[in-house]
Amino acid sequence: MKISFHGAARTVTGSKHLLTLSNGKKILLDCGLFQGMGRDTDAMNRTWGFDPATVDALVLSHAHIDHSGLIPKLVKEGFAGRIYCTDATEALTNLLLEDSAEIQENDVRAHNKSSKAQGRPLLEPLYTVDDAKSCLGRFEARPYNEWFTVLEGVECMFTDAGHILGSACVHLRIQEKGRPYRLTFSGDVGRYRDVILRSPAPFDQADCIIMESTYGDKLHENVSTSFDQLLQWITHTCIEKGGKLIVPAFSLGRTQEILYALNQLELERRLPAVDYFVDSPLSTDITSVIKRFPKYFNKTIQKVMQTDDDPFQFRGLHFTKTVDESKMLNYRDAPCVIISASGMAEAGRVKHHISNNIENSRNTILMTGYCEPHSLGGRLMAGEKEVGIYGVRHEVHAEVGSIRSMSAHGDYEDLMQWLHGQDPRSVQKFFLVHGEYEVQQELKRRLVSKGFLDVTIPERHFEIGIA
Ligand SMILES: [Zn+2]
Repeated sequence: MKISFHGAARTVTGSKHLLTLSNGKKILLDCGLFQGMGRDTDAMNRTWGFDPATVDALVLSHAHIDHSGLIPKLVKEGFAGRIYCTDATEALTNLLLEDSAEIQENDVRAHNKSSKAQGRPLLEPLYTVDDAKSCLGRFEARPYNEWFTVLEGVECMFTDAGHILGSACVHLRIQEKGRPYRLTFSGDVGRYRDVILRSPAPFDQADCIIMESTYGDKLHENVSTSFDQLLQWITHTCIEKGGKLIVPAFSLGRTQEILYALNQLELERRLPAVDYFVDSPLSTDITSVIKRFPKYFNKTIQKVMQTDDDPFQFRGLHFTKTVDESKMLNYRDAPCVIISASGMAEAGRVKHHISNNIENSRNTILMTGYCEPHSLGGRLMAGEKEVGIYGVRHEVHAEVGSIRSMSAHGDYEDLMQWLHGQDPRSVQKFFLVHGEYEVQQELKRRLVSKGFLDVTIPERHFEIGIA
């Protein structure tokens, strides 16, 4: 059996790992889009490193687009198998793929308009909204903690990853050479004591582990401090400076975490009485889907729901829908909080809000998650004094803040806790994926010191025999 790594290999996006069994059958783990890689992004998303038509099944760890975003292209190029994931992942992925297709169609339309004028070659979107819709029938939802058959001789079980709603760690039992080979793929591992989700679940001994490493060299602040930090930024920006607080937030996960935090502050009567806007149709739709799956919430939030039936809705919160409503926010003089996507400020309505508010020192741009260094959010967090947005240079006068404690990814202690039940000497192969190379090297040292011997940091398209 062989494994090859075609994305999230020394990077944090594009998750895609291909298992080739000794009978020739192929199983793809995740089918993610590369994001925020600068000029190379598009080319990276157009080269697979394998033929999609030869893949027999896809197992999807969770809905995030850097794990699911190339599914329509995979199907368009001949993948004819089933896609296995949890029910919440299926519901969320459906929304995200259509949104991703729409963004691409719009981007390509804008790009081609200027290319045409300058006589440059025209681009095609990676896939269209119709392509995204046509793969919806391929999904097969499976529950957590139950083995199911993926292909003959290959069984799979999902355990809770605690990263976003529906997220799973993927455990495979593959019959090879007369015995079951046990392979575990972490997907993205969340934090222990997340505010909404249950903690990552323990799992049985594996022969091979593929683990993410996004924050493999960091320790997060305690999650509970994020509520107070959020409150401080609102008070500082809206009350003391009378400005706008622009919060780029991932539509899935971070937006609901912020809404939950604001709702808690409101329940504690600490929330400043200003207007709060969720200005992203996708974030609004996702919030509705998440409310359909309270069965996956942790005990704390289930308890809150005994007295507050909607823990994501509070006084002063508005969901804006139309483009006109979004534009009206520019003309508001009153202080307010605008929560909008995307989280890295690379696309979406938040990019407009940043370009409209970045030159005014009354305002604050508050980053709430990981940003690729090339992305607008990454450049702002690096302290750049001038940034280009939609081809226009802007001086950065607004304050730029960040709340790092809100990460949906575990830090190295969470990752070590996730590995807690594993006997390192029984893990024959260990692969680190989904991280920046320097971070991965640091985590590798840590793993080796814990007794994991064969730790590899694969490059993109690296292939190796594992059993
Ligand atoms: Zn993720």
